[in-house]
Amino acid sequence: MTARRVSRQITIGDVKIGADAPISVQSMCNTDTRDVAATVNQIKQLQDAGCELIRLAVLNKDAAAAIKDIKKQVDIPVIADIHFDYRLAIQCIENGVDALRLNPGNIGREENVKKVVALAKTNNVPIRIGINAGSLDKNIAALDIPLHEKMVKSAMQHVKILEDNDFDKIKISLKSSSVPTTIEAYRLMAKTVDYPLHLGLTESGTLKGGLVKSAIGIGTLLAEGIGDTIRVSLTENPVEEVYAGFSILKSLELRQRGVNFVSCPTCGRCQIDLIGLAKKVEDALKNLDKPITVAVMGCPVNGPGEAKHADYGVAGAIGEGYIFKKGEVIKRVPEKDILSELLNLINSEN
Ligand code: SF4
Repeated sequence: MTARRVSRQITIGDVKIGADAPISVQSMCNTDTRDVAATVNQIKQLQDAGCELIRLAVLNKDAAAAIKDIKKQVDIPVIADIHFDYRLAIQCIENGVDALRLNPGNIGREENVKKVVALAKTNNVPIRIGINAGSLDKNIAALDIPLHEKMVKSAMQHVKILEDNDFDKIKISLKSSSVPTTIEAYRLMAKTVDYPLHLGLTESGTLKGGLVKSAIGIGTLLAEGIGDTIRVSLTENPVEEVYAGFSILKSLELRQRGVNFVSCPTCGRCQIDLIGLAKKVEDALKNLDKPITVAVMGCPVNGPGEAKHADYGVAGAIGEGYIFKKGEVIKRVPEKDILSELLNLINSEN
């Protein structure tokens, strides 16, 4: 692991991003922002999963108006995602949004940009410049340079607009659906400016493939010390994005949230439905935010030993399970009771 890149710090609501702040996990609602009840409900589910910042698409005035009611009912910072219409940005700031995702070069005339930036400054609202490889400005797309350089060049055009307006509460993302392009773009950006970076890929896919791509792309950058906040984009319930984000951070030992769940891959020694059991245990514990390790192992010969480091666990045997704690077997229970006995033990002690 490389030491973390030194970045400036910005604050979105009460969440610090950059410098030595913990790398935060964010997601985006897929509800219609105008539907306040559905959006609030989803934000609460995401928050339960650990989400620390939430982004909402603001497509029109009604969505911008809904921000006011949503803000009253949630307690994680809300970021408005706006394209092209500066009036929506102004409306969202007036309605109490905590940050904007907006590319200032795409909102029209200079006086409009000035109005948005001035209001963002007085209201302490940071702006994320979000570059997507697939939607670069024509003048930049036509350049004969590698794609990642085009992405950085594009971001820098927007950065310059904000800096020219004396605004520096900036965060930058450079998303592409290609892992190598995304990595190269962030590496170059990290050397170019010291603004905090929001890591993510775009159109990364459904749960399995998207998670692999994101883990490699985001994980590589984080291991190099690059990145201050992350979003794992998945074609899935956004709650999965939050679990995935924390899995990446936990794998790199950058954050601890929730249970560290381990299970063996199974082999010919396994005599119970370990795959089914492991999924059930992991699912039952996914919102338990305790720094414990739980192991689900396939056999009593190697299981407890292989999972010595676990705080709690079970090793399957023929028709039964050996419940263990710190490597010591404390109970033998029938197979049908393994799940409930293990959960009872964990829940009674945590
Ligand atoms: S714990 Fe037992 S079943 Fe699981 S992989 Fe090891 S030897 Fe095989």
